[in-house]
Amino acid sequence: MPLPREPFITIAYADIANQLRGKGFPAADLEKRRAHGVGWTPTNIMINCFGRIPATPWGAIGDLELVPAEGGDVIIDHGDGTREHFILGDVRTLDGQPWSCCPRSFLRSALGTLEAETGLSLIAAFEHEFHYTGARERQADAYAIGSYRGAEAYFEMLLATLRANGLEPDTILPEYGPRQFEITVDPAPGLEAADRAVKLKEIARALAERFGARASFSPVVTPGIVGNGVHIHFSFRDRHGRPATYDADGPHGMAPAMASFAAGILKYAPDYVAVTAPSVISYERLKPNSWSAFWTNLGVMDREASLRICPVPEHGDVDVASRFNLEFRAADAAGNPYLQLGMLVHAGLAGIREKLAAPNVAQGSPAALSDAEREALGFQELPRTLVAALDRMESSAAVAGWMHPDLLKAYVMHKRGEASMVEGLDLATQCSRYAEVY
Ligand code: GLU
Ligand code: MG
Repeated sequence: MPLPREPFITIAYADIANQLRGKGFPAADLEKRRAHGVGWTPTNIMINCFGRIPATPWGAIGDLELVPAEGGDVIIDHGDGTREHFILGDVRTLDGQPWSCCPRSFLRSALGTLEAETGLSLIAAFEHEFHYTGARERQADAYAIGSYRGAEAYFEMLLATLRANGLEPDTILPEYGPRQFEITVDPAPGLEAADRAVKLKEIARALAERFGARASFSPVVTPGIVGNGVHIHFSFRDRHGRPATYDADGPHGMAPAMASFAAGILKYAPDYVAVTAPSVISYERLKPNSWSAFWTNLGVMDREASLRICPVPEHGDVDVASRFNLEFRAADAAGNPYLQLGMLVHAGLAGIREKLAAPNVAQGSPAALSDAEREALGFQELPRTLVAALDRMESSAAVAGWMHPDLLKAYVMHKRGEASMVEGLDLATQCSRYAEVY
């Protein structure tokens, strides 16, 4: 006779450390909890990826609520009678207003401003790379179909669980690095796209554990070996839902608003990269010859640009206008998807307001150019460390206009505390500390 069990559900949110934290309740109370959520406290957002709170603006003071979001449910059925049910939530004040530091509310508000000012809505997709320790490691496995063998059950359960939760898998592939894989899901409106990024990562991690393995999304798992990027794809729709990114006669196929949006994203990238590439080891990935990003250049057929125009085959019956999109590459999964996409929206919108011209494209790699040539083309170098990126962010008038002062202060304090915890450790130790948590 099996012992009695009672199911529970957790309401959680992706915090500054991009960990899902929250509180649970008996499943029987779901309807009540959909309306009122669970209690929360401001300082919880200061728990860093290593589980510590080196500093906090709030101490023990304050009460908030974590309220389930519509469409936030994820159910992971392990097929053995156990299932996990969690619901992504928004953090609100006790009078029901968005909390000044709620990452999901930050993105919602950025998308709302974009739409109100320009009539454009943003569609996005987060492309993830990760290491799966349940796969064998063989020297010849870069992009090789043999990489899946022995681990097919994991990947098939991953696809099925994503689909069961409304994420439509698009591609799955063995990546270049040992035991490294990439998975993409279909694009969705901005807020939902960020929800999908959070859901995908948690589903991949949870299923891996059932196989006694780990799925690590850490930006660099092993020093010197190609990292795990997150490439954030985006495009525009107009007020009628029509594609508004492409213009065959525009610069590199970009419609005028997208050209300025792209220019804003690149102009301000050094100011906000502490949010898109937010860990100490993120900067080990943002190096030349890593196929990630090093300068703030726009790439056409260049996978080492911060921003890349993704080519759409122009033959057959392909609808170029609806598939045309850009990809931001200076991001990784240590970052919170709502904050990452929110920063891109703010920077892009600044580009539209400033009526910036389309960004320049280098012929070949900017590495081949002189400093003066790069400067003339507007290719800035990204900050080289997290601490340098935080200094830059703190002194940015632009960022101060985008983030609520509470959020900016909490973010910088959180990240400086995290950096101090791995400072002075050798790179291999830093990478293994991060691989344990991402
Ligand atoms: N692994 C690379 C990165 O860190 C990306 C490789 C690719 O172009 O897919 O972003
Ligand atoms: Mg890839």
